[in-house]
Amino acid sequence: MKKRVSFFTFGCRLNQAETSTIENSFRDRGYHVVDIDSPSDICVVNTCTVTKNGDADTKKMVKKIARRHPDSKIALLGCQAQAQGETLLSLPNVNWVIGNAHKMDLLEFIDQSNEKPSPIVNVDPIPKNDFTISTIGYDHSHTRANLKIQDGCDFYCLFCVIPYVRGSARSRQFDDLIREAKNFVAADFKEIVLTGVNIGCYSNEGKTFLDIINTMENIDGLSRLRISSIEPTTIPKDIISKMNPNSILCRHLHIPLQSGCNTLLFKMNRKYTVNDYQNFLLEAYNNITDVCLGTDVIVGYPGENNSLFDETFDFLNSLPFAYFHVFSYSERELAKSKKLPNQVSVPNIQKRSSILRKLSLHKKHEFYSKLIDNVEPVLFEQLKNGYWQGLTDHYARVKVKSDLDLSNRLIPVKLETVDDDMITGEVV
Ligand code: SF4
Repeated sequence: MKKRVSFFTFGCRLNQAETSTIENSFRDRGYHVVDIDSPSDICVVNTCTVTKNGDADTKKMVKKIARRHPDSKIALLGCQAQAQGETLLSLPNVNWVIGNAHKMDLLEFIDQSNEKPSPIVNVDPIPKNDFTISTIGYDHSHTRANLKIQDGCDFYCLFCVIPYVRGSARSRQFDDLIREAKNFVAADFKEIVLTGVNIGCYSNEGKTFLDIINTMENIDGLSRLRISSIEPTTIPKDIISKMNPNSILCRHLHIPLQSGCNTLLFKMNRKYTVNDYQNFLLEAYNNITDVCLGTDVIVGYPGENNSLFDETFDFLNSLPFAYFHVFSYSERELAKSKKLPNQVSVPNIQKRSSILRKLSLHKKHEFYSKLIDNVEPVLFEQLKNGYWQGLTDHYARVKVKSDLDLSNRLIPVKLETVDDDMITGEVV
């Protein structure tokens, strides 16, 4: 009988991309991939350690799997594994703890365990050189394909553990990533999302981030190319002229701000001022029709008093954002901000987070309202509660009624009304 393996991913889009690749390497070796809720021989959890919640979620998940499927052996991979190493072996049923340097080699560690059955921990330092990925990261449970182009970061923002758990910035070999992009298209993926830790810093043998976009624009059959989160200081200006309704490059920029006041940006070791950020954002807004502008913001960074929080609120409120992701600051063992004075109390962080989340909902409603009466191509994903749901290129979530199977189809839709956090439309 085929061995069964299940997968679960915490954290970012890059983790999702990596899980898909690892999952396919198991398929290639003859494993049967089952749902995380089904009994399996091996259960692989790709972890995240960006916040304390991420750590706690892994532990809860491991205990749940061990309770439900006591015969499953668990592999913990990735960032939390890299940061916490063998301490994670104390969790029930955990047999492999493999950090970021070797998580793609999980099958080799499993082979070693078959020869000598004892738990394996590997948290080797992360290599500094550019890389290739041999397996293809197909994940047909998602409509959009995540293409990993880069890993690691050299910026060392004070709140961030990424440079410690994912290593320094390095890029995927250009030909290798273009090969995978073409394979995604051949497998009928219509949209590719460029993914990494600090993708704007991409650099391989003279090729830049812009070269990736220029080359992928010419891949026959690719309908959409989306840029995932990109650092404000790394965005090539030429991107603005490329984002238009007729280009495959989606009109969507997610640019992490983290704080809307210079005092805190400086304390975070961010590399720009609010003015720099505002100038770029407004240039994008004024030159890209209906562009969707999103951001990340941290609430409760050490030293954030009421007046500095108000500065952030006012800054976010004044700009044409379509949404923001609000992160509650939490102390991380490896992050330098742990040592900063004037830590903010948890109730204050919760109160301020809730204020910004409400503002984000309001912004999203405003953005969606602006799109009403447009006819926009929607890439449909799934049928949910009687409606087909999908995304426009500018990241608006749309639902329509249809008796046809619309999954993975790119179809023009007249956008009609906004309710809650979705637009209702009609296929034209
Ligand atoms: S740029 Fe992003 S990934 Fe790099 S250190 Fe700063 S927050 Fe972390």
